[in-house]
This record gives sequence, C-alpha cells and structure tokens, in this order.
Amino acid sequence: MRRVGLLGGTFDPVHFGHLRSAIEVREQLQLDELRLIPCARPPHRDMPGATAAQRLRMVELAVGQGGGLQVDDRELQRQRPSYTVETLESLRLELGADVALFMVLGWDAFCGLPGWHRWQDLLELANLVVLQRPDYDLEVPEVLKDLLAARSADQPERSHGQIICLSQTPLAISATHIRTLVGNGASPRFLLPDAVLDYIENEGLYRPSTED
Ligand code: ATP
Repeated sequence: MRRVGLLGGTFDPVHFGHLRSAIEVREQLQLDELRLIPCARPPHRDMPGATAAQRLRMVELAVGQGGGLQVDDRELQRQRPSYTVETLESLRLELGADVALFMVLGWDAFCGLPGWHRWQDLLELANLVVLQRPDYDLEVPEVLKDLLAARSADQPERSHGQIICLSQTPLAISATHIRTLVGNGASPRFLLPDAVLDYIENEGLYRPSTED
C-alpha cells in the first residue's frame, strides 16, 4: 500500500523543527512521500505575521533545499477556513481509498485536537502520527487518553484509524521564538534554512511596526 505523510501547519515561518521531524517520520514509517501543507486561514489562532502566499513561498524555499519533501498548496485554493478534515477529504478524493495516509502532529497540536472541526472524523480518513515536542509540557485531555488507549499502534498497518507515537531528534524550535528574535532585531540563523531567512529579510517580515 502506498504511504503518504502529511504535515500541516501555519509555517509562520517554517523551521528545522518541522523539516527534521518530516524527514525522520518519512524514514521511520517508510513513507513514499511526505507533503507539507501550509494552512491558508488557521481556524484556531491569531492572524499569522506573514501572508498565506509568503508562508507557502517559505515552505517552497525550504523543500527546495533538498531532503525529498513535497509541498501541497490545496488549502490556499479554498476560500474558507482551513479545516484539516476537509483537507483529508480532498486528499482521499484525489488519492483514493487504497493509500495509507499519515497526518503528523506535534504533541501541542495533538493535545488541542478536541477543539478541531469534526475532529472525530479525522481517524476515519487518516492515521495520526504524534511527535514529542520539547518545551511543550501539556497534559493530554481525558478524551484523548481514551483515544490513545483504543487506537495506539506500534507499526502502521492500516490506511487510517491508527495512532502512532514516534520519538525523533528533539528540537526545541518554534516559529513564535523565531518571530520574537526577528522582532527584537536578533538573528534566528541556524534555526531555519538560510533561504527562508533570506526571504524573511528581503520581505521585511516579523519586524516591529514602525508606527509604534
Ligand atoms: P507557532 O510557534 O507559531 O505556534 P510552530 O513552531 O508550533 O508555530 P506550526 O506551523 O504551528 O509551528 O506547527 C505545525 C506542526 O508542526 C504542528 O503539528 C506542530 O506541533 C509541529 N511542530 C512544530 N515545531 C515542532 C518541533 N520543533 N518539533 C516537533 N513538532 C513540531
């Protein structure tokens, strides 16, 4: 069965925490491909510092640096909030039922799952891959403890419906920290690809507003 991994995110900006995790998941689960899917209109958070087109461009620049990752821009094609369940439905329509889908989530995103639109449908469409995230010491909600007990698996065997917890090289990098560094005039170099940092500098992203 073909195996496709999906890492959705705001990617404001994309950084080595995302990219290293993506490569390690692809290798550990022997995926045929892993797609980064930038979110156009994040339903759960404040407006990003960069536009959807700028965040997509940064992901394109990052995957262009090698590593064999792909970009999927379908959420930018939709004129509505970027609900993951609808993204998975559209991927199922495109790829068919015989492909195993693996939706990758960091621990923080997984703990927030019960707030997502139609979250209980997600496992009908894909497997979940949960990654540890250093510096995010969040308590998992009860409802997810039950789900983990019922659906956890060591080895991916199905096209959907399983939860796989993986450990990977822990990288305590967040987009919030990178935006804060840039906003303070400090350098985020070596937390993200050089091509993405050059783009941030050329576009003047994440700098404090000069009107303040
Ligand atoms: P922000 O700080 O703006 O919230 P972020 O760094 O968490 O951003 P997102 O684009 O929100 O980045 O993350 C997309 C996905 O990648 C989420 O599932 C998140 O948990 C995961 N992720 C982000 N950074 C890491 C990291 N350093 N290690 C593991 N997973 C990560």
